[in-house]
Amino acid sequence: MIISSFPKFRRALLAWSAAHGRDLPWRRTRDPYAILVSEIMLQQTQVATVLSYYREWLRRFPDVRTLAAASASDVLHAWQGLGYYARARNLHAAAKIIVEQHRGTFPTSAEEIRKLPGVGRYTANAVATFAFDHSLPIVEANTARLLARLLNLQLRIDSTAGQQHLWSLATGLLPRHNAGTHNSALMDLGALICTPGQPNCPACPVREFCTAVHPAKLPLKKPRTELKQLTEHHSYIRRNGSILLEQSTDRWRGMWIFPRLANPPAAAPLHQSHFPFTHHRVALRIFKTKAPRGMAANQKWTKVEEVEQIAMPSPHRRALRELLAASAAGSCRNTSSYVNFNTR
Ligand code: SF4
Repeated sequence: MIISSFPKFRRALLAWSAAHGRDLPWRRTRDPYAILVSEIMLQQTQVATVLSYYREWLRRFPDVRTLAAASASDVLHAWQGLGYYARARNLHAAAKIIVEQHRGTFPTSAEEIRKLPGVGRYTANAVATFAFDHSLPIVEANTARLLARLLNLQLRIDSTAGQQHLWSLATGLLPRHNAGTHNSALMDLGALICTPGQPNCPACPVREFCTAVHPAKLPLKKPRTELKQLTEHHSYIRRNGSILLEQSTDRWRGMWIFPRLANPPAAAPLHQSHFPFTHHRVALRIFKTKAPRGMAANQKWTKVEEVEQIAMPSPHRRALRELLAASAAGSCRNTSSYVNFNTR
């Protein structure tokens, strides 16, 4: 693309966006806190999934002070099912920093926003451009794919050199005013027309500027690492209408899971399922075992009717629901399933 074509590109993009752009709830607000929530949720999750979580989150934590004052378990419970729980912990920590160090006023510059935990260049610029209309570029998955194709970029987009090309084009394309509208339009074009796999080039409003030769083969990326198999064993222990659970201290820090079992019994598991976790495919196996004589400090009995109120990662929540349903039906049958969503 040549620089002199940028104004024409912007006009074509905006005209398309006015007619076809997505109407998303976080586009109807200038509240930087709400925009940050949406951006953090969208980091590893599809828009369709985020919509209901975003609304529920803002109902529970409508502003930065409410979130800062919430307990860690309430925050994790609200995030339950979205996966990648470090995002919830970072958002909680960011709210506390804004209250304690900025007197509850959201910072307005991208540099200050970027100092918040879990906030990188893209997220800081997105909040600054969408909330404060700062003229800053953004590069995320949809725009990276679109820009790489416009440039016919033969570098991997996850390489330093590839990233430099993308940010440089995104910066060059920026208008002086209404950068938020422009950036939203770029994201929508990537999400709706310049899609992964086969893009819809005949419907593309900027195809005259596009230099991609084989767009379906772009963008180039580092090959995916192969999934490793992992098996995890846990106990299902019930007593007097309660279930023994354990608060995780590592992967799902702060959330409640079935107690870990170092050595699985010889008997068949009550429940088996699989779930993806970063570069692993984890086999979750849950065995019926006897109540221990003493409990570990991070274990507690929870009444069956109260388990929905505590934060559990999705694979364990799903297993628990299946086991309780089987128990309520008076069945000892084993349960098994495959949980296909992010769980970090
Ligand atoms: S012409 Fe095709 S490859 Fe190029 S930007 Fe448009 S949709 Fe993407």
